[in-house]
Amino acid sequence: MINILMFGPPGSGKGTQSVTLAGKYNLLHLSTGDMLRAELAAGTPLGKKMEAIMAAGELVPDDVVIAMIAQKIDATTGKAGFIFDGFPRTVEQAEALQKMLEERGMKIDLMLVLEVNDTELMDRMKKRALVSGRADDADEAIINNRIAVYRAKTEPVIEFGRKAGVSRSVDGVGSIGDIFGRLCAQIEAIL
Ligand code: ADP
Repeated sequence: MINILMFGPPGSGKGTQSVTLAGKYNLLHLSTGDMLRAELAAGTPLGKKMEAIMAAGELVPDDVVIAMIAQKIDATTGKAGFIFDGFPRTVEQAEALQKMLEERGMKIDLMLVLEVNDTELMDRMKKRALVSGRADDADEAIINNRIAVYRAKTEPVIEFGRKAGVSRSVDGVGSIGDIFGRLCAQIEAIL
C-alpha cells in the first residue's frame, strides 16, 4: 500500500492533481472537502451543522473529518493505497491519521507540498469562483480567511511531514501537465 498526502494552500491544485494521480496509480482519492460538500448537498444533519463553518472558510472540528476518513479507509478494497486531499489540515489530524494507518499496518509514505505564491492563488480562486458555485469561493474576504487559516493551522503539518522524512516540495506553478509530471517523478522515486 502507498499513502500520499497532497498538500498545499487553497487553490494550489490539490484536487485537480489528486484525481489524475489516483487514476494513474490506482489510489483511492479521499477529499474531506468533497465529502463535506456531499453532506451539505444531501442535507444531512452533519451537513447542516457544518454549513456555516465552511461558508466562513473556517475548519470543521477535527473529530468530524477524522471519523469520515476512518470510515472510508475501512470500507475500501482493491486499491493500491490512498491519496489524501485537504486532509490532514491540523497537526492533530496528522497525528490521528498516522495512528489510524499504523493500526492498520500502513504508514504515510509521501507528502507532496505544492508551492504556489499568494498572488497566483488569489487569481486562480477568483477564476474558480465563476464556475464552482461554492459559497467560500465567492468572496475575497472569505478567500483571504481560508489562506490565513491555512498559514496558521495547516502549514505546521509540513513540519510534521519533515520530521517524518516524507515531505517533498513541488513547484505548483506552470501547466497542469507539467505539475503532474513533477508529482509523478516524486512518487516514482519512492515506488
Ligand atoms: P480548499 O482546499 O479549496 O480550501 P476544500 O474542498 O479542501 O477546499 O475544503 C473546503 C472547506 O471544507 C474548508 O474550508 C473547511 O471548512 C472544510 N474542510 C475540508 N477538509 C477539512 C479538514 N481536513 N479539516 C477541517 N475542515 C475541513
